[in-house]
Amino acid sequence: MAKKRVKYIFVVGGVMSGVGKGVATSSIALILQSRGHKVTAVKIDPYINLDAGTMNPTEHGEVFVLADGMECDQDMGNYERFLNKDLARTNYMTTGSVYLSVINRERNLGYEGKFVSVVPYIPMEVIHRLEVAAEKNDAEIVITEIGGTAGEYENLLFLETVKMLKIKHPGDVLLVLVSYLPLQGAENELKTKPTQHAVRALNSAGLQPDIIIARASAPIDKKRKEKIAFHCSVSEKDVIAAPDVESIYEIPVNLENDHISDSILKKLHLKPKSKDLVEWRALVDKIHGVSKPVKIGIVGKYFSTGSFILADSYISVIEAVKHAAYANNRKPVIEWLSSEAFEDGSEKIEKLKEYDGIIVPGGFGDRGVEGKIAVAKYCRENKIPYFGLCYGMQLAVVEYARDVLGWKDANTTEVSPKTKHPVIDIMPEQKKNMSEKNYGATMRLGNYPAQIKPGTIAAGAYKEKEVMERHRHRYEVNPEHIEALEKAGLVFSGVSPDRRLMEIMELPPSVHPFFMGTQSHPELISRPLRPHPLFVAFIKAASKQ
Ligand code: GLN
Repeated sequence: MAKKRVKYIFVVGGVMSGVGKGVATSSIALILQSRGHKVTAVKIDPYINLDAGTMNPTEHGEVFVLADGMECDQDMGNYERFLNKDLARTNYMTTGSVYLSVINRERNLGYEGKFVSVVPYIPMEVIHRLEVAAEKNDAEIVITEIGGTAGEYENLLFLETVKMLKIKHPGDVLLVLVSYLPLQGAENELKTKPTQHAVRALNSAGLQPDIIIARASAPIDKKRKEKIAFHCSVSEKDVIAAPDVESIYEIPVNLENDHISDSILKKLHLKPKSKDLVEWRALVDKIHGVSKPVKIGIVGKYFSTGSFILADSYISVIEAVKHAAYANNRKPVIEWLSSEAFEDGSEKIEKLKEYDGIIVPGGFGDRGVEGKIAVAKYCRENKIPYFGLCYGMQLAVVEYARDVLGWKDANTTEVSPKTKHPVIDIMPEQKKNMSEKNYGATMRLGNYPAQIKPGTIAAGAYKEKEVMERHRHRYEVNPEHIEALEKAGLVFSGVSPDRRLMEIMELPPSVHPFFMGTQSHPELISRPLRPHPLFVAFIKAASKQ
């Protein structure tokens, strides 16, 4: 059988970073999927790190974890949320990982004694990986986001890849530039010059964009479209307006208002097989329809870099709260609470009363830990719905041991290695990794099952006996202390099939309206069209406050 022809779309950013390439990529992928094509999305990150796992969230934003355990860029989370599909490690690569493959192959005589130069061998490896991604995902269209901005040194080899693929498969490769139009001066004029320069940068790499998505604070007018079309040598209908929006979920609808899928399908010689965005438009209507607020506080430490707030560090948590709020017909109102502020007294713990529910998300290390423990205690004692994710679960267990069991020095050994009551302890298989400084991709990562205890809040939410959740941790509830914790009233409502690892803890409804923690990261699999049952249950409890 002849191999089916795969179409390749590349998305590259111009002018500056943070213009929303990831959401643009996700949106195009979703739109083409909704028109009946099999689509998959790939992210290329132009850095040396083999994955995102060793990076600090304040540097890089959230580390997203795939079902197969790949630690990757948060954009992968956007692709999964928009496509409503699990992606695999074939869909993510970094400069470092591409070079490593080429070098390993060279060491194995895989190039048969040839001189292995950067061009063409690095782009060839990238092309090979994109072909594998197409095959593994059974995709007709592979849409690839190239990290960084056109004109910088780091992503040049990936632009070279686009050029080589265009030569290899003429008519099957499309380049989309996501650019930005700044507002200038008192006339409030949207300026197109930076976009023209971005196109020049692509031109000097031997490329010409087929479509330009023009990001701006306001919708761009006909005049601006004409100007971009003229100076950047694209047709006016291929200049797509992407103004700022309240919810990122509106973006696919906006791009379709400018008929982006018609344009893409035509250029790739594909035919639409179905009507676009039917379910998605209903979601957007729902988002616009909700008005009654539910106010959720997220207590963390990864959002301050200088005076900036970096919501990116918890992006999946934020999105999961939104999905669950919409499912409960509520308007999500999310606020940041710094755990450290509860430690140094700059914020009073009573402030938590202002919230309908509190989330303590994942984290590492000792900074801000006592603040999080104080938050768990206050929520437990004052019956404020509490949802702990990974570290947020572990620290709620520490709090329970200290205040209910009376083990004043109870702690996680991540913070206090010598405590007499290590209620959270390093998993045996992780000890070796730590002593050998073997940090990269060695946590307990990706999908693991949990069995759900009947009659619990978790069981009521999941409505399933066994569930699969994604993980990223090295510590666990210490098996030696499980019995004491249970005797003191803590319920372990989700456990690993071998009953060793405590996956979910909760307090019974007779004691607290919603006090739950999960060792896993349910936020990673919440989707706008498939809100996560535990988040839905949490927001439901919060909505009753
Ligand atoms: N630091 C904790 C652990 O390694 C929690 C990790 C997390 O919250 N992702 O187990």
